[in-house]
Amino acid sequence: MDGTEEGEAGGGASAVGMSHKECVSCINKSLAHPTVKFLREKMAQAGCPVWVNLLSAMTCKGQTSIGSYASGRGITICCNQATVQDEIDQVIIHELVHAYDDCRAKNMDWTNCSHHACSEIRANHLSGDCHYKRELLRGFMKIRGHEQECVRRRALKSVQVNPHCSDASAKDAIEAVWDICYNDTSPFDRAP
Ligand SMILES: [Zn+2]
Repeated sequence: MDGTEEGEAGGGASAVGMSHKECVSCINKSLAHPTVKFLREKMAQAGCPVWVNLLSAMTCKGQTSIGSYASGRGITICCNQATVQDEIDQVIIHELVHAYDDCRAKNMDWTNCSHHACSEIRANHLSGDCHYKRELLRGFMKIRGHEQECVRRRALKSVQVNPHCSDASAKDAIEAVWDICYNDTSPFDRAP
């Protein structure tokens, strides 16, 4: 992807995070998560022989993302930004959706705001990044509307971080591809 990478909001400046050892153990547990296993199988079927080197556990400085994905480099998990297993599961699923998109679209261009926006909408939707809030807020607001707002907000935030996308072009890109990309749940039959 020529150096462009995208990161996910999470953790927070005050997070102390996990030890490297604890983090690696969480990553290994995530590999047995049914959604992670499913995505790994689909990537293998799509002909992406990148698995062995796809994931790396690191201490990340100067950022608050839990994870990021870059073409050719794979998925980076920022151990110091994660505190619980669930966060590691979520971020791995999210980044695997990006890896899957990179794999299936041979012409994926992460410097193109619309391409990036589409993958962010899918990753935030399909990873369940917005599900825990749904649980918290159940009964207090329209669940379906909230999930979409959450996906939209998080996707926008990630695209705005892309150095090739201004705030305005990130916003335009999200709107332009929303319907197609929100409804594109491949490789899942529906959002898990
Ligand atoms: Zn993302």
